[in-house]
Amino acid sequence: MIYLDNNATTKIDDKVLEAMMPYLTTEYANPSSMYNFSKKASNVLKDARGVIKDFINAKDEKEIIFTSCGSESANTAIKGVLNYNKSKKHIITSKVEHPCVLNLYQTLEKQGYKVDYIGVNSNGDLDLEQLENAINSDTVLVSIMWANNETGVIFPIQKISEIIKSKNPETKFFVDAVQVAGKIPMDVQEMGIDLLGISGHKFHAPKGVGALYINSKTLITPLIVGGHQERGKRAGTENVPYIAGMAKAAELAMDGLKYETTEVKRLRDKLETTILKRIYNARLNTGVTNRVPNTTNIGFEYVEGELILLHLSDLGICASSGSACTSGSLEPSHVLRAMNVPFTAIHGSIRFSLSRFTTEKEIDYVCDKLPEIIEKITAISPYQDELDALKKLK
Ligand code: PLP
Repeated sequence: MIYLDNNATTKIDDKVLEAMMPYLTTEYANPSSMYNFSKKASNVLKDARGVIKDFINAKDEKEIIFTSCGSESANTAIKGVLNYNKSKKHIITSKVEHPCVLNLYQTLEKQGYKVDYIGVNSNGDLDLEQLENAINSDTVLVSIMWANNETGVIFPIQKISEIIKSKNPETKFFVDAVQVAGKIPMDVQEMGIDLLGISGHKFHAPKGVGALYINSKTLITPLIVGGHQERGKRAGTENVPYIAGMAKAAELAMDGLKYETTEVKRLRDKLETTILKRIYNARLNTGVTNRVPNTTNIGFEYVEGELILLHLSDLGICASSGSACTSGSLEPSHVLRAMNVPFTAIHGSIRFSLSRFTTEKEIDYVCDKLPEIIEKITAISPYQDELDALKKLK
């Protein structure tokens, strides 16, 4: 199997599993208990909080709470800020957010919030002027992702924060950092971020664990109410083994950042340039710069993405035609639509996302096989005249 769908989820690193095992077996104590047996479990939480603090360069480990996933982190941040600041009713996000933000914003709109959805250009870059014009004295929250899950496009978070704070210093800034964790350095202080969410399963920890950074100046109303865990900001007994795993994954990610930005990027670039060179009806759906190092999104004109995925799958190659949450529906991706990807390419767009486990041999195999697959599918496309014209152009 060749797994090129690492933006959907990642393989658990063996070292991560090893770090989790004691807490799945013998060290099963509740971290909040008083006896000595719970010491190891409570120390796991303390140490993990320190590691995640370093991972994102927070000021204090008290600013980190553990959650069950990226979606919970986003919901806690957004609803938490809004419920704490009930008098203000204007919120802003982008048109290309993950559904865990976009669907929540749409629900909030129905509940009476005035929402501005900021657009992107054809490279996938955010319209900063539109953002600046949208912020007013009633704006309570801006939620912008750090990198897009479908295209890998990175938004200029520090610049965005400066725009927000210069227009309204009271406005809180939540950043969905799920797709940058482990791929590029994160520094919440330098970037001017108030709240930030990550998810363990996108950087080689298991599914079902995440973290939320809430800076000390930001107050929220908790989403999950109950016991006093996580300083009263998220009730429920902490998932000690998974938190131990996420901390180990974060340590490995910090050590591996250089590898991501050099070797993983080199393999991504090799895959991308080879596809664009060898396949005449392939087009890059984004600009080449400002992207996380592991992702490429390529449109194959006049063919169906699902058909490409099925042929790839027959060869054991896993890729994706949209985010994991929207694949299964034949609606073209909201991200590519917001970027005005031409209708000729939008249905045939494929995301390849690599990881540190991706090998050169795997990339070479995909580079070899994909042109044959596309040729086969192109031959049965009803758009032969358009394809001929395209071929002549190249
Ligand atoms: N945000 C982004 C950008 C994502 O890509 C994802 C998952 O694909 C999420 C949030 C949701 O994370 P989780 O699956 O941990 O809820």
